[in-house]
Amino acid sequence: MANPGYDSRLLAGRSVLVTGGSRGIGRAMVERFLREGARVWYLSRNRAEDHHELALLAAERGGALAHHACDVSNEVSVEAAVEKAIAESGGLDAAVNNAGITRDGLVFRMSLEDWNAVLGANLTSVFLVSRAVARHMIKRRAGSIVNVSSVVGLTGNGGQTNYAASKAGVVGFSKSLAREVAGRGVRVNVLAPGYIDTAMTEAIPEQAKEALKSRIPLGRTGSPEDVAAAALFLVSDLSAYVTGEVLKVDGGMAM
Ligand code: NAP
Repeated sequence: MANPGYDSRLLAGRSVLVTGGSRGIGRAMVERFLREGARVWYLSRNRAEDHHELALLAAERGGALAHHACDVSNEVSVEAAVEKAIAESGGLDAAVNNAGITRDGLVFRMSLEDWNAVLGANLTSVFLVSRAVARHMIKRRAGSIVNVSSVVGLTGNGGQTNYAASKAGVVGFSKSLAREVAGRGVRVNVLAPGYIDTAMTEAIPEQAKEALKSRIPLGRTGSPEDVAAAALFLVSDLSAYVTGEVLKVDGGMAM
């Protein structure tokens, strides 16, 4: 018989911040967290196209949804948006740094602008948001920070020196921060997705896509929901004894 006091929603009553929640992997995380009963604040420059549907889902599942426009590479913008989310939520339990961009090109043709744009959106953003939420979580002596890297940050990829450098940076940053805050009850982990079907990978030429797919042992590309499920594990208490870890979600591509 079911236990009447048992709540199967993994994030019931929890407040979670997600960057880059307007589409792709981040949007799938927002939806998954809402299904688990969370109150979700997402930061991106634009609102999700289906924000209203997501807000209805939030109400149905006993959670809440809010969006704050934010450029995660900008210090003033991040400080203001995180401060608002903390005030409105009354306390953040988890934060996922998911926002990211690519500006691919061979290194000898890469402009400093493209280098800086990718480092700013993918790495400086992780520093800015983590700094703002970690200060807050340390005081509460609890929290989970999840930073989205990429298998490219572990293996490298021709044409993506800026992207790979930013994503490798996320790993080093996260392990260092995990050591700094573990004693205060805050966990920091990394997700390293492989090839996931989103707008980011849409632009890859068909031939290159097929070549990539042939290197995936599980025989298929990943969905945003595949990554969101792994994020749920790291955000929730299911991973209470896990910190400083890098979890690949790549169908075995980079094993
Ligand atoms: P996507 O569909 O292009 O979505 C990117 C998200 O980041 C959007 O919500 C976008 O929102 C937000 N964003 C970008 N720049 C921002 C900025 N300066 N400030 C605030 N928000 C910003 O990409 P995705 O495929 O879902 O990727 C999500 C994360 O997973 C990224 O970190 C990416 O590097 C990583 N990843 C993806 C793959 C893959 O195969 N797709 C593989 C490994 C890792 P706005 O445009 O509204 O601001």
